[in-house]
Amino acid sequence: MIAFHSVFPEIARLEVRCIHLGNAPDGATAPGLSAGEYAFVEFYCEDINCDCRRTFIQVIARDQRDRVLASINYGWEDESFYRQRMPDDPDAPAEVVRGSLDPMNTQSEHSAALLELFQRHALDETYRLRLQRHHQQFRDELRQRRDRPATFLPDATSFSAAPTGDSPAERPDRLIPAAHRSRFNEVAALLAQFGQAHLDAELTGFTVELWRRICRRKSPDCLRGQPGIWAAAVIHVIARMNFLFDRSQPVHLSFDTICAYFQTNKTTIGSKATTIEGTLKLRPHSEPGLCRGSLQESFTTVRLSNGMLLSSAMAKRLGYLPPGAKPADLS
Ligand SMILES: [Zn+2]
Repeated sequence: MIAFHSVFPEIARLEVRCIHLGNAPDGATAPGLSAGEYAFVEFYCEDINCDCRRTFIQVIARDQRDRVLASINYGWEDESFYRQRMPDDPDAPAEVVRGSLDPMNTQSEHSAALLELFQRHALDETYRLRLQRHHQQFRDELRQRRDRPATFLPDATSFSAAPTGDSPAERPDRLIPAAHRSRFNEVAALLAQFGQAHLDAELTGFTVELWRRICRRKSPDCLRGQPGIWAAAVIHVIARMNFLFDRSQPVHLSFDTICAYFQTNKTTIGSKATTIEGTLKLRPHSEPGLCRGSLQESFTTVRLSNGMLLSSAMAKRLGYLPPGAKPADLS
């Protein structure tokens, strides 16, 4: 998924749906939400060969832009379209056309109210057609950029990228304290078992790497709590960061699958996952060593010498970056 505004900043500035609460002319109100402006930030799938026809929306408040208040999935086509694509998930088609809270991504105490705001006040025919058009523009642009031959390769020094942190292999503190080692092995074995059943090797590696990072730390205390709960929470974090909730992904998961496997409940796992994300200060969808390369690139912004911002994945497609370059190479 790539943010629409990272590809079309000007269109996004004018056309991303915002709802003003409190003093709105249409009198929009929502219980529990404070007055102010709420933006529905669109993301679309960057796979040109995938025809999922959906948007992933993050709701943010103007005065609090670094916090995602709700994550919403929405599809503008008829229910029958999604039914064909998701034959083994009877509830999903109705949920996606109505707009629904994403079970794996960031939510807040305001999510339910914001979903209602979305359904009742944002989602009219104009907006439905606008999302459809944005999706088309987005795909056309990606296709064009892919096909456009690179005419020049700018000097590498003209790039600057967001800091990507140390690469895990170079960090000196990779060792787990002796007191934590048997706990590390115990949970890592559960992660490997789950991975064999539901993930691929790369994603399983991410879960073990995240668990390793937790075990290196004093807090959260890896020795406290059930191994199965730790394993489920770690998998949940990795699933969120890699969009595994997305049923169109080759490897996808549901929250129910994780909880059923470890016989745990959603509330416990959800709050433990949030604690992990918070204490380790993990960057959503872009944490080095815990996200698939393609995703990490989509969320790593490259600034060209002319000031244009684009994702590093896109910079590669455009020929500004050599195909093998990693985000870490840009700094
Ligand atoms: Zn897709």
